[in-house]
Amino acid sequence: MVDAAIEFHSVSKVYGDFVAINNFDLTMTQREFLVLLGPSGCGKSTILKLLAGIEDPTSGEIFVNGTLVNYLLPRDRNVAMVFQNYALYPHMTVAQNIAYPLKSRGGTRNRVVIAEKTMQVAKLVEITDQLEKRPAALSGGQRQRAALARALVRDPEVFVMDEPLSNLDAQLRDSMRYHLMELHQRIGKATIYVTHDQHEAMTMADRIVVLNKGSVQQVGTPIEVFNSPINTFVAGFVGHPRMNLVPGKSLDNNSVQVGEFSLETNCKSNLKDTPVIVGLRPTDAKPEAGSNNISGKVTACEFTGTDTIVTISTPTLDGLRFRQIDPVSSVEGDTVTFSYSPEHVHVFNQDGQRIV
Ligand code: ATP
Repeated sequence: MVDAAIEFHSVSKVYGDFVAINNFDLTMTQREFLVLLGPSGCGKSTILKLLAGIEDPTSGEIFVNGTLVNYLLPRDRNVAMVFQNYALYPHMTVAQNIAYPLKSRGGTRNRVVIAEKTMQVAKLVEITDQLEKRPAALSGGQRQRAALARALVRDPEVFVMDEPLSNLDAQLRDSMRYHLMELHQRIGKATIYVTHDQHEAMTMADRIVVLNKGSVQQVGTPIEVFNSPINTFVAGFVGHPRMNLVPGKSLDNNSVQVGEFSLETNCKSNLKDTPVIVGLRPTDAKPEAGSNNISGKVTACEFTGTDTIVTISTPTLDGLRFRQIDPVSSVEGDTVTFSYSPEHVHVFNQDGQRIV
């Protein structure tokens, strides 16, 4: 078996004069779980459709396990898709839905083989007790399992999943996320998973591809993307609450000026007096004075249950948000001080690119 399960080589998709995907390059290994993350309309679903053969690329090449698939029909690509809306046939039972891909388009008529394979995947997704029901009689989570089973039954080479959990409530989403990851560990097939939920991306991905307006912004492990965002788009998109991105000025001793504060950074570039954008994650703030401080007046407090996000303003800055963890909690009007370790002070140039 070839090392690369999925390869995109300079793939673009243009609708009229609108560039939906711009020169997309990606190589995925056999067991990898890769998440496409980005805002609505950035091109996530289009990439899945190009791989599955639902859309044709305007230019570029796509390979699955070393085979060029550009000219193959969707059914000949062996790419299984799982959608947000499940796409189960309402008039068929769960068992019939699962078995459908086995029988369709000249597949097997052997009832024993069909029953065995249906049962095998139904067991894998733990839905054997629902096989005789129709989709309308299932819960959202059960429907999602049935859709997964139907995707699994043809033993696909790769999986693509388009926001498969977004119709579920928060609790079910958590348990299905765990179930999906466990299933992926067992099956070990390369999977591309689309979401605009950065929490889902961080918790599930081996690697994340952050997309914006059809272009790749950054590819990396969740830790790389979180700790070293390559530009202000990634910095602002990944992480909750959103990173504070504040105009500042670089000083000559690895420090930056933000409003009335001077903060030490690990940024080695010695650009004196250059305008920069400084990134401070609310969650990296220590709620006490240290060597790298920002102080201001609390203008809003949001209690989340486990922590409080306070918004502060200073004589020259407005709307900075920092996290306080119990037992520290402020009220509006308090004067508070937060400190940052130099490695948590991110610096970007005026074009929004990270400076290291
Ligand atoms: P969402 O998270 O909302 O599902 P997405 O990132 O999956 O969004 P895509 O569905 O890939 O986005 O669409 C990317 C862009 O391409 C969008 O601006 C969309 O309007 C455009 N687009 C998609 N299909 C077509 C089409 N058939 N004709 C014209 N434009 C299209």
